[in-house]
Parts: sequence; structure tokens; C-alpha cells
Amino acid sequence: MKYSIKCPFCKKTRFENNKLIGLPAENSILFENNNVYIQVDISPLCLGHILIISNEHYLNFFELPNNIKEDVIKLKNKIKEIYKEVYKTDVLFFEHGSAKIGYAGSSIDHAHLHCIPCDFDIIESLNEILGNPIECDILDFSNKFNNEFSYIYVEKNEKKLIYKVEKLPSQFLRKLISEKLNNSMYLWQENCINEESIAKLKKTILDLKNKIVI
Ligand SMILES: [Zn+2]
Ligand SMILES: [Zn+2]
Repeated sequence: MKYSIKCPFCKKTRFENNKLIGLPAENSILFENNNVYIQVDISPLCLGHILIISNEHYLNFFELPNNIKEDVIKLKNKIKEIYKEVYKTDVLFFEHGSAKIGYAGSSIDHAHLHCIPCDFDIIESLNEILGNPIECDILDFSNKFNNEFSYIYVEKNEKKLIYKVEKLPSQFLRKLISEKLNNSMYLWQENCINEESIAKLKKTILDLKNKIVI
């Protein structure tokens, strides 16, 4: 079992942050099997903000074996359906995939895919800031880039894009998405104890509990 001591997404230590501040812990799990689990983001940028996380400690989705990728593909399709039904929106998937620890603006370097119900597009903004992307499905079985570089992966309206990145500021993508949502609370470490953030977390659990089945 790949495992990293004190990683907030590895099974043995995954809810230490939640428990420390009295937030829902195991209760925030919306799906779980031998390969992956889904939990609500500790400080959701909007209602329905959830994470698909590998059980074992991989740095990013390029590293995942194909059987785990298969589960993620099924879950993504299910989440698209559920967001349409519950939130009446499309979905934005993103990953900040680090090839080295702390490089893609994620503060947790354990493979996780953010799922956000929204109708806006961030691709234009990303093109301006990060330059031209490569068209590539992160869940493609060929593993063609295999940790050659850190990246931002974005999937929206059938577009699947990878931006190669040098070291990005922490929370880079959360900040960009928060601006589109008119939500200034992108720093999860500070905002997860905020009342509004806790209410969003609890409501998301209610909205999505027992719905994600593959
Ligand atoms: Zn981990
Ligand atoms: Zn993240």
C-alpha cells in the first residue's frame, strides 16, 4: 500500500484536519471502493464542490494504474448526470498535478480531481495566463507524459486540456475559480472554519449523499 505519513488524503490520516476543527469527517465521504473515494472539499468553493481521490498515494493522475482510471471515468460520468439533476449545471473538472512536491499550486500532492458544478469557462483565462494547452485526456490509458512535468488539467464541455506549468503560487486555480464565482474565500486553510463554508460543506453532503453509485 502506497502511503505517505501525515498526508490529508491517505486513508490513515485523511480526516485529521476535519476532526481537528470539528467538521464532518467520515460522514463527508460520498463514495468509496478499493481504488478511490469521493469526499466533499473541506472548504467548498460552491455547493457541490467534491474531490475524487485515489486510495493509495500517487502524486497525480498520470501515475494511476488503468484499473483505477476506469473507476474515475465511470465516476466522472455519474457526477455529470447528478450535477445536471441536482444543480442544473454542467461540470468543471480540474487537477493540479505536481510532478514534484508543491509545484502545481496544490497544497496536497496526492492525486485528486476537483469536480465543480458550474456553467462558466475558465479556459480563456488560463490561456492568457499559462499559454497554449495540449489537448490530452488525463485518464488516457497510454500514460504518455508520465511525470515529465507538473501541469494543470482542465475538462469542460468535452474539452480536455493540459497546461504545462513551472512552479505556480499555492491555490492558483482555486483563486481563479473563486473570482468567477464572486467568492473571495479561496484559501481553504483560512476559510474552512468560516460559518458560510461549513454550511456549504454540510449542504453538499445532504445534496449528494447516496447518489454516487457506479
Ligand atoms: Zn497521500
Ligand atoms: Zn486540490
